[in-house]
Amino acid sequence: MHRDTEILKAGYPPPETAGAFVPALQFSSTFTAGGDPSQHQLTYGRFHNPTWTVWEQALGVLDGGHAISFASGMAALDALFGVSLHPGDAVVLPADSYYSTRVLASNWLAKIGVQVRLAPTRGDAQAEALAGARLLLIETPTNPQLDVCDIRHLAHLARERGVLVAVDNTTATAYLQQPLALGADYVVASDTKAITGHSDLVLGHVATASEERAADLRAWRTQHGAIPGPMETWLAHRSLATLPLRLTRQCASAAQIAGHLRATADISAVYYPGLPDHPAHTVAKSQMRAFGSVLSFDLGTQARAETFFEALRLVREATSFGGVHSTAERRARWGGDAISEGFIRFSVGCEAVEDLIDDIEGGLRAARSLP
Ligand code: PLP
Repeated sequence: MHRDTEILKAGYPPPETAGAFVPALQFSSTFTAGGDPSQHQLTYGRFHNPTWTVWEQALGVLDGGHAISFASGMAALDALFGVSLHPGDAVVLPADSYYSTRVLASNWLAKIGVQVRLAPTRGDAQAEALAGARLLLIETPTNPQLDVCDIRHLAHLARERGVLVAVDNTTATAYLQQPLALGADYVVASDTKAITGHSDLVLGHVATASEERAADLRAWRTQHGAIPGPMETWLAHRSLATLPLRLTRQCASAAQIAGHLRATADISAVYYPGLPDHPAHTVAKSQMRAFGSVLSFDLGTQARAETFFEALRLVREATSFGGVHSTAERRARWGGDAISEGFIRFSVGCEAVEDLIDDIEGGLRAARSLP
């Protein structure tokens, strides 16, 4: 079957099953289960939930492994670190990763005696920091600078050195890029973003090909309690069916907008792995099905970026990305990234691309009025 069809059907009852077409939403925190608990499939809502199970089956199809759903992308990253790192270990992180990942590592991992090593994504520079490490976390494309590294190459180097490899696949999603097939031991993602795509929930997951590692992650979730809500997983599963449709359109529009901005003389930089002059375009092409729904560009100053946003009529100024509605933000307002004050991260939604380009042009015209 074509991958798009597999994703559409993932986690749904097989065709021969009579009854509800759509998997039921199960809210119960408690399940009637007397006697020996090990004789029951369902006992208590922190241990398991049938709505999570079908969502995890669907994610398993998407990632090609066993998926464990968490309350957020950060809870998923925390579980990944928790099951793989011990005091005295070293972890290699991208120096340009999602900012909160670095904050989590420096605030909490360092405190329990884990050495945190940072190295840039660009040019596969993380390879230089692998000696003696326990875990390499790759993020590609990075958020928000959209740098790309070679997953297969880094996973190969890490394996040779006995280092576990995890990929934060949030920006691409497993529809566009499949890290487990490229040699990673774990893939982690914020499902708040394009996987679910409707800006209405917060979720995350980790997937792995190893049943043993999956069991550790489930135990972590049960014992730490960072469980997803049944309502969120049900909504997420409903949204997943349209992932191929949504992302195909979003990627095509993002590529068109990136090309348009690239051809605009007074924009100092446009970041999008689909642009032929992106430093890692060839690598991106070799490991991604399309180049994603997020692009960034630089208007140079805070004042120009703010004037750009004031002039927009269609695109909302908001954080997060991957949704069906286009959003954008001046990323430096959060701090923590090595970017200019005029750096804009733009998440391309499913609107007609002509309308998006018109709106962007309106913003750029207003920004041009400033020095
Ligand atoms: N990883 C990346 C690359 C992200 O961009 C984000 C959120 O923006 C996260 C992880 C954290 O996900 P969440 O906000 O769902 O906790």
